[in-house]
This record gives sequence, C-alpha cells and structure tokens, in this order.
Amino acid sequence: MSSSFEPVIGLEVHAQLKTASKAFCSCSTKFGDSPNSNVCPKCLGMPGVLPVLNKQVVEFTIRMGLATHCTIAPRSTFARKNYFYPDLPKGYQISQYDEPICEKGWVEVDLQDGKRKKIGITRIHMEEDAGKSIHDLDIDTLVDLNRCGVPLIEIVSEPDIRTPNEAYQYLHKIRQIVTYLGICDGNMEEGSLRCDANVSVRKVGEEKFGTKTEVKNMNSFRFVEKALQYEIDRQIALIESGGRVVQETLLWDSNKGAAIPMRSKEEAHDYRYFPEPDLVPVVVDKVWIASAEKGLPEFPTERRDRYVKELKLPKYDADILTAEKEIADYFEGVVDHLASKNDEAVKMASNWTMGDVMRVINERHIPLSEFPIAPPHLSELIDLIVKGTISGKIAKDVYEDMLSSREKPSAIVEKKGLLQISDTSAIEKIVDEILAKNAGEVEKYRAGKQQVFGFFVGETMKATKGKANPKVVNEILRRKLKME
Ligand code: ADP
Ligand code: MG
Ligand code: ZN
Repeated sequence: MSSSFEPVIGLEVHAQLKTASKAFCSCSTKFGDSPNSNVCPKCLGMPGVLPVLNKQVVEFTIRMGLATHCTIAPRSTFARKNYFYPDLPKGYQISQYDEPICEKGWVEVDLQDGKRKKIGITRIHMEEDAGKSIHDLDIDTLVDLNRCGVPLIEIVSEPDIRTPNEAYQYLHKIRQIVTYLGICDGNMEEGSLRCDANVSVRKVGEEKFGTKTEVKNMNSFRFVEKALQYEIDRQIALIESGGRVVQETLLWDSNKGAAIPMRSKEEAHDYRYFPEPDLVPVVVDKVWIASAEKGLPEFPTERRDRYVKELKLPKYDADILTAEKEIADYFEGVVDHLASKNDEAVKMASNWTMGDVMRVINERHIPLSEFPIAPPHLSELIDLIVKGTISGKIAKDVYEDMLSSREKPSAIVEKKGLLQISDTSAIEKIVDEILAKNAGEVEKYRAGKQQVFGFFVGETMKATKGKANPKVVNEILRRKLKME
C-alpha cells in the first residue's frame, strides 16, 4: 500500500436472530429443513394477508442496541424496500428506513498493538430475510423460500475503520456480542452473520472521503480482511495511474482472490422506500428498556477481569477462555463442580479447557454443545488428579476414554485398574528390584553421577505402567540410594 493514501472503511453486518419463529408469521426458522416446508401465505406474500410482529425480534434488537451503547428509539417504524429478486415473492422486504429502532452507539475493539479503539455504530434496524436461489447445474435454478421472513438485524458502522485488520477485529467483537447475548449463533458459514464492506481511500491529511465501493459475498472474517486489502490496493493503483474510482458493488471471489464488479451502486431512492402500511409503529417504553438492561449478561471484558481477579488466572488464560461465551460457560461449569476449589484445581480446569477440550472441538470441527464430556465429568477427572488418585499422565488416557465411552472418569479408573499406587510398601518392592538389577548404575550414582536418579524414576514408572505416585517414588528412591 502506498503510504500517502489512507483507507476508510464502514461495515454493514446482517445478523440472523435466533428466534423460534419468523419475524411476521409463526413459521419455523429452522436451518436445513426440506426446501419450502417452512412457509405460509404470510411469508410468501399472498394478497390480503397481514404481518404480525414477533415481540422477541424487538426484544433481541433492544438487547443488541443496549450492548452497543445505542439510543433506543421510543417509537420506530417499518418501511417497504422494493426490489425484484426471484427469491423474494412479495417484491419487497419489510425493513426500517428513516426511523430505526437503535441509533448512535459504539463498540470498542482490541487493536494489534494492544490499544483499544471505539468504532461508531450509526444504526441498528430490524428487517426480514429473503429466500435462497439454488443454482443447480444439473437441474436448473431452484428456489427455497424457507428463509423468507426470517428476522435479521442490520448493524451499520460509522466509516471509522482504518485498516483491514481493524475491520476483522470489529467483526469479531460484533460476533462476540451477539453470541454472548444469545440472539444469533454467529455462524458465518451458514450465513447467520453476513458482512458487506464499504471502502474508499483518500490522501493522508485530506478530510473529504473518497468514492466508495461495496464488497459483498464474504463468508469468513479472514475473507473480509483479504477482500478489503485487495480493494484498497486496487483503488490506490487506479488513482495513482490517473483513473477514478466508480461507485459500484463488487463480489468477492475467494477462489480467484479478487473482487469482481457486480452492478453499479444502487441508491436509496432506487428502492422506492415507503412506510409499511400493515404494521403499527414499534413503541418501546422505559420499563421495557430497563428490564432488557437487567437481563444483559456479563460481557467478555468484565468476565475476563473477573477471572484474573477472583480466579487468579493469568490474563492469557482469561482472554482465551472468554473469547467465546460457550467456552467460558463450559469452563465455569467445570470450576463449579470441582470438589477441591483451590487455585491449583482452578488453574488445572483452565489448562484442560484451553488445551484438551479446545483441541478436540477444533480437530473435530464440532460446536461445544456436541462435545462428549460434560463439565461435571471433567471436574471429577481434575479432582482425581488433585487427590492423587491418578497421575496426570494416566489422566490423559482416561480423558481419551471419556471422549469415546462418555463414562465417568471414576468408573473408567476402576474398570481399567488405573488407580495410582501410593502404597509405599508396594513401590518399595519394585524399587528394590530395579536397584538390584542395576547395581552398576547405583554405583555411578553414589560416585556422584546425579543424572542417574532420573533413570531410576523412569524405570519405576515403567514397571508400574505409569501408575506409581511420582512423589512417593522420589521419596523412596532418595532414601534407598542414600543407604550404603
Ligand atoms: P449506502 O446508502 O451506499 O448504503 P450509507 O451512507 O448508508 O451508504 O453507508 C453505508 C456504509 O458505508 C456505512 O457503514 C458507512 O460507514 C460506510 N461509508 C459511507 N461513506 C463511506 C466512504 N466514503 N468510504 C467508506 N465507507 C463509507
Ligand atoms: Mg448499503
Ligand atoms: Zn410464514
């Protein structure tokens, strides 16, 4: 990137709300049901039907507005946004236009250099989704209208973002907020979270913004970052070679690694917005806002601080554990069920969650909800280690067994005879045999070769298949080797 230019970026994020039924009818919003099974005359836009607003949609949007420090409008209205799409049977989308429900908020993002930056939120409004066209090369273009009328919120940022990585961090923050609020599952691959990126460049020091383009069709945060970098480089090269940026909409092609022009940019007046005549204004009183505010969860930053302060975890652990609500909830479930809730056990719960648990869900590409080990079982495993019933090494084997058998760790330990041997006389007997067998090494140790000690520990652990209590083994060896 040429250093004399500066990018200006604003993002429009659509988040699909996790309601059971659609925004204006009682059809199910379930993803993956057979095509055109979740439809009714209302979401198909048959003549004479009347939409009825789903209260949960408003509740969820208020929560998002409060979480992003927006002003909640006491009165907001719906509008019709008219356009033709084969998967939009009504010929319009119910949306909000000049009177959105949330305005003038902000979120704070973590930057790469450790600093934090506020990004303004222009508005958040409610709208409904369109259906889906499926371009099947063997058959034809097919239409699935299950998604018609599924509730969305559109979150529009101020043009405050200055680098592709800031855009990436902003999206992470938005995803973190909607998932913490429990209003959207945040799954970008399934389209529950979609982002259109607006970008322009200007000479450093210039106040006026340049002409922007809008990039669509990016189904991962990394693609948004890449597409923005691509588009910034293209605009700068164009201007430097004497050209002019044209306002247009581009589609990101992740295979080509390029943004392909789709259409010249439409303006608001192209949509012929007009007030939705079939819906009354949305009135939100102070009581409603106050009760929504009370229901807000603890947010990642507060949670992170609490882990450091109350659970005595390193900040590194607290960051990783709170990055996603699911993980944090799981970790807290483990801590809650620990019999021995001391700092050592809590740190072990953190290590197991960040390491062993996250490794398995990443390897298997499964959500935490499908992870086979429930928090109380992991707590029990940690308690077994803390109590000295099993060694840390055996615990890893028990864990593998738990993953496949879903059994309680204590049951596995019993079934497989994995109890740690802390019985001094049993270990002593084994140590005696090893020392007798390795008289030469014993001589070397007594002659001052300290390293041999580790060899004896290893042999004892091997002879007990890892079940000997390492502390007891060390004590016995030290005592025996001292003797003449
Ligand atoms: P449109 O009507 O084209 O959708 P808006 O004014 O509603 O434009 O803004 C859409 C998004 O584009 C917002 O996120 C806004 O911050 C961003 N934006 C507006 N102007 C610019 C610009 N010159 N460069 C980059 N982003 C911009
Ligand atoms: Mg736009
Ligand atoms: Zn319906």
